[in-house]
Amino acid sequence: MAFPHIHIILVRPQHPGNIGATARAMKNMGLSQLTLVAPRTFPAEEAIARAAGADDILANTRVVASVREAVADCPLVVATSARPRTIAWPCLTPKEAASALWVGAQTVPVALLFGAERTGLTNDEIDFAQALVQIPVDPVFPSLNLAAAVQILCYEIRLSAEAGRPPGGEGLTAHKPAPQEALNQLIDHLERVLIHIGFLDRSNPRKLMRRLIRLFRRAAPDANEILILRGMLSAIERPYPPKE
Ligand code: SAH
Repeated sequence: MAFPHIHIILVRPQHPGNIGATARAMKNMGLSQLTLVAPRTFPAEEAIARAAGADDILANTRVVASVREAVADCPLVVATSARPRTIAWPCLTPKEAASALWVGAQTVPVALLFGAERTGLTNDEIDFAQALVQIPVDPVFPSLNLAAAVQILCYEIRLSAEAGRPPGGEGLTAHKPAPQEALNQLIDHLERVLIHIGFLDRSNPRKLMRRLIRLFRRAAPDANEILILRGMLSAIERPYPPKE
């Protein structure tokens, strides 16, 4: 059982030991695709030691500079959080998240985002995700070790796959959402146009944009739909043709 389309992404990991322990946790469950966003120290001896035989995953690990780059090819992205966030992203249980990721991975690359040990993910980074997942824990001590959180979610992905949910049965596979980067470019374009037409307040763009980003991620438009929307935005940017 392999999961070549499921990407585990660690954002700004601080401790190389956690990178190694993550590789081990993934390999135990049959996952292989690890991406690091701006790791503090990598490659590192400590990571190899903690990988305990999963060093093939470390050898193939992709290192990138931003979350945007990390998820560029992934139409489905789920972010993890140890704490509830003030802006309500749709929140999934580990089982729901694992099932959505596994079903999605039948047709498109999918990603699961993990935050840095001390700070977790920023809201701007969670904006790249369609949903959040929180592992149920005791609320007085909710923050799991990073690799432990990876272990639990990879285990749930494996359980979903073993339960053998028939691919093709759920919404995400009914159509093919465009790659994430196409959607990000649409959002950038929309932001530019909304500022240009005076609808968006330049001094506080995030509030409105965050809501619009959530709307677009939920809709998961396909490549054609994005082309239509980009075309509309370009038409708004052009001077209006003179009236006949
Ligand atoms: N103080 C940070 C905790 C970061 S723990 C915060 O409040 O967000 C490091 C990472 O481990 C988190 O970003 C998340 O990816 C994962 N993690 C830890 N506990 C988790 C939990 N209960 N549910 C989901 N992910 C968790």
